[in-house]
Amino acid sequence: MNPRLAAVLCFALMLSPAHGQEKVLNLYSARHYQTDEALYSNFTHQTGIRINRIEGKEEELVERIRNEGANSPADVFITVDASRLAQADAFGLFAPVRSALLEERIPAHLRDPESNWFAFSTRARVIIYNKLKLKAADVGNYEDLAKPALKGKLCSRSGAHPYNISLGAALIQHWGEVKTEEWARGVVANFARAPKGGDTDQIKAVAAGECDVALSNTYYLVRLLRSTKPEDRTMMEKVGVVWPNQSGFGTHINISGGGMLKTAPNKDAAVKFLEYLASDEAQAYFANGNNEWPVVKSAVIANPELKALGNFKADTLNVGELARTTAQAQKVFDRAGYR
Ligand code: FE
Repeated sequence: MNPRLAAVLCFALMLSPAHGQEKVLNLYSARHYQTDEALYSNFTHQTGIRINRIEGKEEELVERIRNEGANSPADVFITVDASRLAQADAFGLFAPVRSALLEERIPAHLRDPESNWFAFSTRARVIIYNKLKLKAADVGNYEDLAKPALKGKLCSRSGAHPYNISLGAALIQHWGEVKTEEWARGVVANFARAPKGGDTDQIKAVAAGECDVALSNTYYLVRLLRSTKPEDRTMMEKVGVVWPNQSGFGTHINISGGGMLKTAPNKDAAVKFLEYLASDEAQAYFANGNNEWPVVKSAVIANPELKALGNFKADTLNVGELARTTAQAQKVFDRAGYR
């Protein structure tokens, strides 16, 4: 049987009336981290609410929710990157959630009244460099990536990828559109090779000396730092990490987050689940499992490699505002040929 059809049938069975009285939450998740298993089973353990989880790619899940329309079984959609949440929000998929608990626990810049979603964890987009080729001071700011001094030395994943688009959106907020477009042109002019691969591929390329500098989300770095494979350890010894723009607006951070869907059949369970994600316990899963930072200050991190990355000044730009600028950033990057 076609695996997708099998998944749909399987899901339909899970939703059958046989389970009529059982409390359930239908979760559509585009978070692609195996370590989330414990995060979800702990919710069921605490509340007795069973989670039916459908995993898929971001665009596919958004498409699916739209196609299912009023009949969608989805209660909550969670994904990574503000730009993707912005897209789901632009389609009007999320319902407003008023929760004193969420408002109290999640800092104001990581939610916003216009966006009906919440951030539950953060990751930073940092500059990584080959320690034999460059010094940290050579690449202390995002501006440096566009300077002629780095001609032929920069590796990048696609400029059309949400992680880069969101960085572009932050830069537009701080610098305006003209300077950001100039920057994107400078970045393109510095490519050591055409954009390809994910963040981990850029880290590998920098370590291998294929290029001297790249951008990466922090959880990919910590994942490699925690690796028990000797080759990963050797690789990471060659790579330096810079917190960009520390004397200015701070390092760009992005988020993982989600919200309740307008058509949610289990609204109480949905709000409970969102509030659970902001609990100290759930927040610790984000940090200890997937090497992201909790958004809630009181959460306790037991992740030495994440802690070892150190403290930094993070950009406090509002995530809703950031998300709404991503469409503009996409156009700017397109014009600059950063694809
Ligand atoms: Fe990722």
